[in-house]
Amino acid sequence: MKLIDNWKESYKLLTVKLGAILSAFFTLLILFSEQLVYLWNLIPQQLKDMIPDNAAAWVGGIIAIAMTLARLKKQPELHEQPLGFVTVTAGHSNMDPGAVNGGMKESDFVVTIRNALAYYLHEAGVQVKTDGIGTQNDPLSSAVKLIKGSSVSLEVHMNAAANKSAVGIETISLPKDKLLAQKISKAVQKVTGSKLRGDNGWIDQSKSARGKLAFVENGGLILEVGFISNDAEANLIQSKAWLIAKEISKVLIEHDKKAL
Ligand SMILES: [Zn+2]
Repeated sequence: MKLIDNWKESYKLLTVKLGAILSAFFTLLILFSEQLVYLWNLIPQQLKDMIPDNAAAWVGGIIAIAMTLARLKKQPELHEQPLGFVTVTAGHSNMDPGAVNGGMKESDFVVTIRNALAYYLHEAGVQVKTDGIGTQNDPLSSAVKLIKGSSVSLEVHMNAAANKSAVGIETISLPKDKLLAQKISKAVQKVTGSKLRGDNGWIDQSKSARGKLAFVENGGLILEVGFISNDAEANLIQSKAWLIAKEISKVLIEHDKKAL
């Protein structure tokens, strides 16, 4: 009997300890979910690929929980939003990578830039809406719904052409946002030094070869940061994604402050 009692005691102790460790772990996860997601996004994909498979499942699980928590914590802010907010969305979705060039996917580029934009806008005290956090990239139908009520909505894309030498920046909008579109393209040019396409970086939606774009028709702007099909331009944009976002964010912040 003594033995069983001892065993019962130590088992009880063990479950209490495990419970304490687990609850401490989740408390930390709840407290630092945004930071964890933010840090995770900073880690280059090449490094993530080096995580062993058995550890990757755990890391993936923890990051998924952190993203959900970060999202849940964000929700109350949506209801207390003041007059203005800026919407930044990433083109394509988790199901559709957009244009590809070798191992480079458009959706990876634009998600990084969207996250960096959201970061800089948030830092400047601007309310931001996005079509996902972390690696999440909701489809266009969800992105379009965010436009209403925004002082400005920007969706980020990468251009692609069969001709691998094609390069340049363009922002597509309705004519009323011509100046803003040109400013956004020029902000990218400051970093990449690439050429401005269309009318000084502006493409008129009504004259766009792509036909009607839902995001633009609903009042948003579409930025084509550069050509993923051009190896040099794609590599440059990949390495300077955060700098590019920082320059664009300055234009959006200035515009948002004027709109209020
Ligand atoms: Zn695209």
